[in-house]
Amino acid sequence: MSHHATKIVITLGPASSDPALLEQMIRAGVNVVRLNFSHGSAQDHIGRAALVRAAAQRAGREVAIMADLQGPKIRVGKFADGKVMLKPGQNFVLDADRTELGDINAVGLDYKALPHEVKVGDLLLLNDGLIVITVDAIKGAAISTTVKVGGELSNNKGINKQGGGLTAPALTAKDMDDIRTAMSFQTDYVAISFPKNATDMEMARQLCNVAAGDGPKPGLIAKIERAEAIPHLQEILLASDGIMVARGDLAIEVGNAAVPALQKRMIRLAREFDKVVITATQMMESMIHNPVPTRAEVSDVANAVLDGTDAVMLSAETAVGEYPLETVLQMANICHAAEGSEDFQLEADFTDKTFSRIDQSIAMGALFTAYHLSAKAIVAMTDSGSTALWMSRHLIQIPIYALTSKVTTQRKMTLYRNVQPLFIDTSADRDTALQEAENDLKARGIVKSGDVYAITCGEPMGSPGGTNMLKICRVS
Ligand code: PGA
Ligand code: MN
Repeated sequence: MSHHATKIVITLGPASSDPALLEQMIRAGVNVVRLNFSHGSAQDHIGRAALVRAAAQRAGREVAIMADLQGPKIRVGKFADGKVMLKPGQNFVLDADRTELGDINAVGLDYKALPHEVKVGDLLLLNDGLIVITVDAIKGAAISTTVKVGGELSNNKGINKQGGGLTAPALTAKDMDDIRTAMSFQTDYVAISFPKNATDMEMARQLCNVAAGDGPKPGLIAKIERAEAIPHLQEILLASDGIMVARGDLAIEVGNAAVPALQKRMIRLAREFDKVVITATQMMESMIHNPVPTRAEVSDVANAVLDGTDAVMLSAETAVGEYPLETVLQMANICHAAEGSEDFQLEADFTDKTFSRIDQSIAMGALFTAYHLSAKAIVAMTDSGSTALWMSRHLIQIPIYALTSKVTTQRKMTLYRNVQPLFIDTSADRDTALQEAENDLKARGIVKSGDVYAITCGEPMGSPGGTNMLKICRVS
């Protein structure tokens, strides 16, 4: 078992698809594997999911699979030569009607509505914001622009509009197909790209639930990467199970300098709303080519941990990087060091909240008591995972062990900060189950004779939302 409470999400790609390497990476601390649906066919994704499940089994650890949908990424078309070099000051046309391949003067668009959604003076950013162009005129389907910041533009690079304002719906026809593919291998999470409001998330939820049929329903993550999403953060949170601070596209839309404050606000708000939060993009970027991170990257990961994020994410570092395993090891180390570097004040966290649900009050009671007794562990016997989620919304330096007899719940909880999800086979009565739980924790070396721990469960056992008991135990 690795010793970081903050969870690590990796992106699977050619650099991490060797079965033995992936197994090593999981042992090194990977908790969630993200499948990027922007690349590959349905059959590819099904194969990748099987690869992840097999590697996790060999490593003896559960990991969650997160299917990250492409969304309405707005892109330029293809070029005759694959790419062009745009020079500052030159004219360049984006033409939705163009059928021939692009050249140095003009390129086609796969997002046909773009000419209706820009106006003269708008700033458009191409290729992750590396190229900046301004709109001079719109003639029918052709947007005439001047290049402000030049650079290489290659096939199908993304287009963002500074300040947001593009109306493309979050779910494309491809996304709807991809949801069905992802549910065919029982994905644990689905990440929705570019949602602008709660309606986008509700629509995605419906599609996922229908595709899931009688099977387990996935958790939904809203990627916050559009300027429009910011004023709707609270309603998006209510409609989701978690959010991703998707700093790549977000930075392009709101400007780089606005992102650090937004990251802090999003993390705080997500925890307040009892939702999970993933901090993503360029966290260890230089490790794509270098075996060690920069000082700035170390600080970035540590600061996300101190902000209270549930998880930190790797993208190209593990998908196409030269050092995927080293990156995970370094990240796990940084998380661990940051987690121990501050004392958290539990009471201050508690006093301005009210709890009306019995199960939630029990979860808070366990935290409060364990904190004051300096307990060795907090243990939640859980069916749905809610008690573990509530407990994990408060920073406490006592590990939470979530015992469940549902493997789908176990996988979902891999994303919750400071929660170690464990599988336990309990169909027994309450007292037997509690004894089995203690035996299990002892056998794993989590508690030993004389240790105090707090444990919550529900009676009758095994009904979701039924937690109504808190017991403080000293290990015999
Ligand atoms: P992406 O999302 O990698 O799918 O674009 C993350 C981001 O935009 O930061
Ligand atoms: Mn993005």
